[in-house]
Amino acid sequence: MEDVDKPRLLAHVCCAPDALYVVGLLRAEYRVTGFFYNPNIQPRDEYLLRLDELNKVARTLGFELIEEPPDEERWLNLTAKFREDPEMGRRCLVCYAMRLERTAAAAARGGFDLFTTIMSVSPHKKADVLNRMGLMFGRRRGVRFLEANFKKKDGFKKSVDLSRARGLYRQDYCGCLSSRRKGTHGS
Ligand code: SF4
Repeated sequence: MEDVDKPRLLAHVCCAPDALYVVGLLRAEYRVTGFFYNPNIQPRDEYLLRLDELNKVARTLGFELIEEPPDEERWLNLTAKFREDPEMGRRCLVCYAMRLERTAAAAARGGFDLFTTIMSVSPHKKADVLNRMGLMFGRRRGVRFLEANFKKKDGFKKSVDLSRARGLYRQDYCGCLSSRRKGTHGS
C-alpha cells in the first residue's frame, strides 16, 4: 500500500526505545506522526535527553515528531495529592489522562484519522486502562482511538533488544521524580 493511501495516525510517544519498536510496527499500516507531550518527565535535563533520543529515532524511521510544550506546573498541581502513591496508582491515572487528552485534542485539530499511545508496550502500564481512557477522550473529540496492547508478542523485549542494538539511551525510571526516588523501572 502506498503511504498516501494509509490512514493518518497521531501516536503519543514517550521515549526512544519504545518508539523505535512500536512506531516501526505501526508504520506498516499507518502514516504515523509522533506526538511528544510528556510534562511528567523530570528534571528538565532528562526531558531534553529523552526528546533528543526520540528525534534520532524519528530521523532513522522517517516520521514527523511534534513536541507539545510540557506544562509541568499543571502536571505537578494535578498530581500533587498523589505524590506518594505507588506506580500504577492514582498519580499515574492523572498522568495518563493528561497525555491522552492532549493527544486526542491535537489529533482532532490536525485532522488525523485516529490516534493512539505507545505506552502500553511497558509491562508497568495497564493496556485496558489506557484503552478505556483513549476511547473516552476520542469520543469527546470526535477522533477514533486505536486500542492496543503493544507488550503482546514479546513487544517489550523487542523494544529492549532493538534499542540496545542501536545504542539508544534507556532510562531507569518512568519519568516523574516520585518514580525516580522509588527507583522504579525505565519504561
Ligand atoms: S510513574 Fe510514570 S506514569 Fe506514573 S505518574 Fe510518574 S511518570 Fe507518570
